[in-house]
Amino acid sequence: MVKPADTRTAGRKPVARTTRSAAETEKIRAALAARRDELSAEYDQTLSEITELQRDRLTDSAGDDQADTGTKTFEREQEISLANSIRERITQVERALERLDEGGYGWCEKCGDPIPVERLAAFPSATLCVKCKQLEERR
Ligand SMILES: [Zn+2]
Repeated sequence: MVKPADTRTAGRKPVARTTRSAAETEKIRAALAARRDELSAEYDQTLSEITELQRDRLTDSAGDDQADTGTKTFEREQEISLANSIRERITQVERALERLDEGGYGWCEKCGDPIPVERLAAFPSATLCVKCKQLEERR
């Protein structure tokens, strides 16, 4: 009769790399969430500006000459591309939050060191620590 394999040693954890404390993870989460709220507000603001520009175009374009119309179209296009880039950044922050939950966020891809909270808050898409980033830029 074969005994079931001894499982007592199977669950052994691999040697832990430097881990972030829960408090630090929370700090990053809070920074990212604040960033997301900030961007959302900016996004809403930009959207209402676009709506306003559009309304202007519809209401008082009767007396406009071609140049005015051109300027307004240009302004509106700029606002739209601004809105798109904000939307993009919001997505980045949301992805960062997901990765944070999975434990795969905030580590330097090069040296494996934790990326400082302040840096992550400023650049949610950062994948390198400052040191590695600087080395990369110097090349
Ligand atoms: Zn690094």
